Amino acid sequence: MAPKKKAEAAKPQEPEELNPKTTHYEFLGPAGALGMVTALPVLVLFFSICCNKTGYPSQLLIDDWKTYFENLLTVDYAKTLFDPLAFVVYVAFVAFEAILYIALPGDVYPGSLLRNGERLRYKTNGFTAYHTTLFTALYFLKDSGLKPLLFVYDHWVGLAVSSIVFSYAIALFVYIKSFAKDALLALGGNTGNPLYDYMIGRELNPRIGDFDIKFFTELRPGMIGWQVINIAFAAKQYLDIGYVTNSMLLVQLFQAWYIVDSLWNEDCVLTTMDITTDGFGFMLAFGLYSWVPLTYTLQARYLVDNPRDLSWPVFGAIVALNFLGYLIFRSANSQKNDFRANPSGENTKHLTYITTQRGTKLITNGWWGVSRHINYLGDWLMSLSWSLPCGFASPIPYFYPFYFAILLLHRERRDDHKCRTKYGKDWEEYCKVVKYRIIPGIY
Ligand code: NDP
Repeated sequence: MAPKKKAEAAKPQEPEELNPKTTHYEFLGPAGALGMVTALPVLVLFFSICCNKTGYPSQLLIDDWKTYFENLLTVDYAKTLFDPLAFVVYVAFVAFEAILYIALPGDVYPGSLLRNGERLRYKTNGFTAYHTTLFTALYFLKDSGLKPLLFVYDHWVGLAVSSIVFSYAIALFVYIKSFAKDALLALGGNTGNPLYDYMIGRELNPRIGDFDIKFFTELRPGMIGWQVINIAFAAKQYLDIGYVTNSMLLVQLFQAWYIVDSLWNEDCVLTTMDITTDGFGFMLAFGLYSWVPLTYTLQARYLVDNPRDLSWPVFGAIVALNFLGYLIFRSANSQKNDFRANPSGENTKHLTYITTQRGTKLITNGWWGVSRHINYLGDWLMSLSWSLPCGFASPIPYFYPFYFAILLLHRERRDDHKCRTKYGKDWEEYCKVVKYRIIPGIY
């Protein structure tokens, strides 16, 4: 991996000046942090325990509480919660991805300019890692057939517990590491409250040598893990009923598309809030090591236990919704990235913009003139299209679009706060030009 570039601005800064105390809490402060650190893992466990053949409570929120509690009680916790084999497999998977990150070649991109004048460099080989993972699996499955993939279904709760334990551990490691002398802290992660800082992320870019923990975590354990789990569920359905239903096919294709697209455009991650603003703590670690692979796969898991064949008009309508969402999501994100890389490039020279006092340019037409986060709308439409193949018998497969809507609404407010603080009057002027937050004409 390419070495860090030396400081571009030579002005030395006092530690307090470089890492000021955070005075503004998000997520309801320490109480919210406690809630997130405890409740979110419980939710992951809830889904992994309840969503089994008997446990998909079709009237979960309506009238079947009795069955639901009976199902909870019949789960053999001793066998599932503490599953050392699942833990070994989980850690081996993460270690394998880490080795691929280090060993595979990839284009090196500069990150944003940091407060200390440094600009870190990032090797992007996620797309190659994705293929290498799948081809390695194919190589080992060629003699055994699909049977080893059943491990995921059979050890589902154990894998969930492993991912949670791993998230707590890595978040603790980076929290302790953030007290190293030269650490650059996230502006939002230095409150001095250990629980809050542990949750929100204290250090901005924790690295071991050139190994960037946050950038590695951003797409590989979550995205590639999500893909591997989905394939394992499709294999399970195939082995159970002898074919893969068209509803499962849709979920597989839509989500694989999203995953491949994220990995293909890995450099786009470098301009997102996760990399530029947020520290790396429990929130990101848990989100990417546990939440993404364990809850984004609920649709595929649901379809294993509840296989469905869709009529072709319904199939077509769901495909159309997915394409619409993708078109908005990808074009908006690419437009911003292309513009930031070169505002006078072939694809971006028609864009109008406001130049802020800081020198940053904010686009005011094209996708970014329609609403301030039109990319969120596209992303959400896609999420809905992933759930519709599951039908309406259970609310469980709709957990993702439901939670994702809340996440995006909250994220938009966070980003608005960040930009307001960063750009002041310029942001207000921008908001007057681009009035809607997410949904044009509505919100
Ligand atoms: P954005 O990609 O929308 O980036 C917001 C930043 O872009 C702002 O902070 C500002 O940064 C800059 N910006 C804002 N307005 C303009 C403008 N008009 N012109 C130029 N730059 C502007 O935010 P996210 O990082 O939240 O999201 C990235 C993608 O990831 C989205 O598509 C989102 O849907 C997706 N996502 C998916 C998640 C999932 O779980 N599947 C979770 C979160 C996000 P600056 O300081 O540089 O000016």
